[in-house]
Amino acid sequence: MMFDTILIANRGEIACRIIRTARRMGIRSIAVFSEADRSAAHVALADAAVAIGPAAARDSYLDGARIIAAAREAGAQAIHPGYGFLSENAAFAEACTAAGLIFIGPPAAAIRAMGSKSAAKSLMERAGVPLVPGYHGTDQAPDRLAAHAASIGYPVLIKASAGGGGKGMRIVTAPADFAAALDLAKGEARAAFGDDQILIEKYLTRPRHIEIQVFADTHGNVVSLFERDCSIQRRHQKIIEEAPAPLISDDQRFTMGEAACAAARAIDYVGAGTVEFIAEGGDFHFMEMNTRLQVEHPVTELITGLDLVEWQFRVAAGEALPLTQNEIERTGHAIEIRLYAEDPLRDFAPSTGTIHHLRLPEPSAHIRIDAGVRQGDAVSIHYDPMIAKLIAWDHDRASAIRHLARALAALEIDGVRTNLPVLRRIIGHPDFAAADLDTGFIARHEPILLAPAAPASPAVIAAAAHRWLHDLPRHAAPSDPHSPWTLKSAWRLNGPAYQDVTFDDGTAQFAIRIHPAAAGQLTIDHAGASTTAAIAVLPDDRLAITIDHLTTTLTALRHTDPAQHDHIVIFADGARHALRIVDPFAGTGTAHAASGLVTTPMPGRVIAVGVAPGDTVAAGDLLVTVEAMKVQFRITAPRGGVVTALSCAVGDLVEDGAELAVIEPAPRPITG
Ligand code: ADP
Repeated sequence: MMFDTILIANRGEIACRIIRTARRMGIRSIAVFSEADRSAAHVALADAAVAIGPAAARDSYLDGARIIAAAREAGAQAIHPGYGFLSENAAFAEACTAAGLIFIGPPAAAIRAMGSKSAAKSLMERAGVPLVPGYHGTDQAPDRLAAHAASIGYPVLIKASAGGGGKGMRIVTAPADFAAALDLAKGEARAAFGDDQILIEKYLTRPRHIEIQVFADTHGNVVSLFERDCSIQRRHQKIIEEAPAPLISDDQRFTMGEAACAAARAIDYVGAGTVEFIAEGGDFHFMEMNTRLQVEHPVTELITGLDLVEWQFRVAAGEALPLTQNEIERTGHAIEIRLYAEDPLRDFAPSTGTIHHLRLPEPSAHIRIDAGVRQGDAVSIHYDPMIAKLIAWDHDRASAIRHLARALAALEIDGVRTNLPVLRRIIGHPDFAAADLDTGFIARHEPILLAPAAPASPAVIAAAAHRWLHDLPRHAAPSDPHSPWTLKSAWRLNGPAYQDVTFDDGTAQFAIRIHPAAAGQLTIDHAGASTTAAIAVLPDDRLAITIDHLTTTLTALRHTDPAQHDHIVIFADGARHALRIVDPFAGTGTAHAASGLVTTPMPGRVIAVGVAPGDTVAAGDLLVTVEAMKVQFRITAPRGGVVTALSCAVGDLVEDGAELAVIEPAPRPITG
């Protein structure tokens, strides 16, 4: 019988996603939340919510016993784990059953069978599913592993057998680097999974990631819901996914679907699962099976018209799959982008902060938005930094790309760094349009994808000028009560008044002189030219700026973060411009670089310190390793010199921008 109450053991976007289907089916939903999430979107959306502990995930969202107790207290009959957290935890699935609750996911035995990438590969080998050449045995002696790597042939990829999320994964291009990479991979694997078994694969240099969505029920039915192409990745993690996979033949599609169903049958699978393949040329090889719903499931939903969470509920309640393989059809093309709080210029390291401003595009027949955050929410170091997903659908791929591009142009976010500029450039890239996809896409196009933003246009400068005038203290010049700038609306004035200001957009400085012209107009002198802009003020910080008969609508905000209050932020057609108001009396701001101060580019935990005060280092030497969201980042010396101060120790939690060390030029030896 269908449940009347379920508990969702997750947070953010996926918790909201599951709650929506539950609501549509008349099922009551119970959210859980950590102290950090008291006012989070998923808590507000659920019918009821239970506090489960402190912010750190291991004390809340990963505390299976606490979650099961919450489910029982709330009268839930089933628990949906979402993805991440406890979704692939066999012990948790068993604990649910032992407590008389239904785990909305596969049987514990199936999770275990696929939980180790090494064991899963052995299993698939026996089931006749093709594998990437490699070593996935139990002999873990470093010299034996090195010997296996040599016989596979470089480059090789070291993977954590218990891995997920790209953690514990290292590419090794030459034998000399193998030992160090093995250490790093094992360290990450231990930190993230408490298990440092690794496997080695041949590293394919231009592969595509293609995966098959499978579904199985308790009545012995197994179907495939077609494939997804997830080749656009950074740090081995997906950021854009689409369905169907472009440029594959129906034969290939069919063969992969059959192999995926065989994999599911081999482990008596039940529920939603994904069989991941890596494809190169005409070949495809099994990589792993994820025994849960995937982040990218919406693209499959949009081409099949099905609700996969509803299917999960039905299967968990003991029903047969709603459709047979022959009844499952697909129409059109869907593409998803994942918006992350991360810094593309720092190897896409997670970024934290408060989302001061968030404007998502309007959902429509062509645009679906799955978000779990709202304006004012914080992105913390505790959880995955994904902010939202945008999914576009249309009858053909080119049209879906067009809708996605427009939606991305309408998206405004401020307060954390995000991958939005990179996503926009990928979606607009001719190679993406031509479906020339492989996992090296981002690295190959890096110069274009990471290039600085175009300089501020005259419309952007005019908007900033307007915003700046608007924010000026009304009585800035009390000594001159007749100054036009003390009046609420400068534009009403006649006469030759002006105001000078300099903006810095990070690439250039704009020293401008602003003259109020007629009502609603500004004339701006910049670099010897004069531009007149008509400005109409719209609701929600929007401005319509007309220059030479061309009207641009944009958003102009004063940064609300006190530390950034000297910035005016403009969103114009998807591009974000942060214009710093240059204070003519402030210093030049280069003292920092010259002082040899080393700061952390991301918040996290210090897990290793490689130097001591007084040590001499060369540029590029490893100073400190910081772990953020289970990924390790190496912070190296920006230049050679002596470590004159060290302000962190192993175990410290460091904030974004915190000082770690100071390196000063080595004193010249006194000779003579
Ligand atoms: P995780 O479970 O940590 O996400 P996966 O095994 O799913 O790791 O691999 C993640 C990504 O890493 C793949 O989508 C692919 O881009 C890349 N990758 C994995 N194996 C290989 C390989 N043998 N050669 C090249 N790239 C690979």
